[in-house]
Amino acid sequence: MRPFAYERARDLESAVKSASVQADAHIRAPIQFLAGGTTLLDLMKIDVMSPDRLIDINPLEKSLSEITLDGNGLRLGALARMSAVAHHPNVEREYPVIAQALKLGASAQLRNMASLGGNVLQRTRCHYFRDVSWQACNKRDPGSGCAAMEGSNRNHAVLGVSDHCIATYPGDFAQALMVLDATLQIMGPDGKHSMPFHQLHRLPGDTPHIETTLRPGEIITGFNIPARPWARRSLYLKVRDRESYEFALASAAVALDLKDEMVRDVRIALGGVATVPWRAGEAEAFLMGKALDEANATAAAEAAFASARTHAHNDFKPELGRNTIVRALLAAASLEVRS
Ligand code: FAD
Ligand code: SF4
Repeated sequence: MRPFAYERARDLESAVKSASVQADAHIRAPIQFLAGGTTLLDLMKIDVMSPDRLIDINPLEKSLSEITLDGNGLRLGALARMSAVAHHPNVEREYPVIAQALKLGASAQLRNMASLGGNVLQRTRCHYFRDVSWQACNKRDPGSGCAAMEGSNRNHAVLGVSDHCIATYPGDFAQALMVLDATLQIMGPDGKHSMPFHQLHRLPGDTPHIETTLRPGEIITGFNIPARPWARRSLYLKVRDRESYEFALASAAVALDLKDEMVRDVRIALGGVATVPWRAGEAEAFLMGKALDEANATAAAEAAFASARTHAHNDFKPELGRNTIVRALLAAASLEVRS
């Protein structure tokens, strides 16, 4: 770990201002906000990230940790802890896909520390990215190559990959936000604004080191999740090497609006198989207006992986991903949902 300056945020405005001054100076190792620290401090200890300055935003917890439900939907503060949201009765009842995705992530101790804002900004678990003794990693060192292409790539992505990076987006919560049409609340040097959550993560393309559309100095302040007819009939299915404390090999967040057993609307987002939280738009389009039976779910899953690109060790992923979608859709269809 390298030396860094530590600053405690006094309020949101001063935290943004402090971060923006640093950003304007074009210093190579940028400033980082410190929330739970469960991603950031790990990566600093192994020298993958070496910011000059940390701005600890935990003093803002009181104003940034709301969990509020009303007729318009759910509002979650960026500093709300994963465990607090996962076990909140309103979230469990009205937005089960959120509660399940959070409960299936990390460990109990980590969930007590980890914030929602930090969760959606977690970095990939690609072992070449996390081990600086490997020189070739375009995400860590732009232009250096990609050791995973010819190396060990069992956990890597098959959707949204590029010739420069095939790293998997590792989180679970983001997929729940995708199927619920969530909006991100942001505070930046130009003031407050919001954007659809699905615009946060960038495909790797030829700049895999630029992972999000956040601009320097911007803080995520919260998430707005609108009231939608499919929110209650939603779930998260996560398939992994062991049943606890493990990242997804494939996962599916699914939300369904059924009328007389026909699909009136459907949302599917995939984890563990793609470089970003992945909305399975082709699968959704196939299912619209159809009966949700095994044959249609299987055909939808085929459509979801039609553009998959595999490498030496991850050619099992499209089949695992398809099976995950089918299981998740059929399970969602059979849920008892009271109106
Ligand atoms: P931090 O580490 O404090 O910050 C992470 C990044 O986000 C930093 O770059 C920081 O500057 C930035 N940041 C934080 N908050 C904000 C904000 N409000 N605005 C702008 N930038 C911000 N996650 C899963 O989803 N599923 C898993 O199965 C899973 N397993 C894990 C297993 C292990 C062993 C570990 C260590 C982590 C695992 N995680 C998993 C990841 C964990 O959920 C994240 O580390 C955690 O959610 C990050 O939140 P944090 O508050 O600790 O973020
Ligand atoms: Fe780096 Fe991406 Fe290649 Fe992993 S897959 S080594 S993160 S460039």
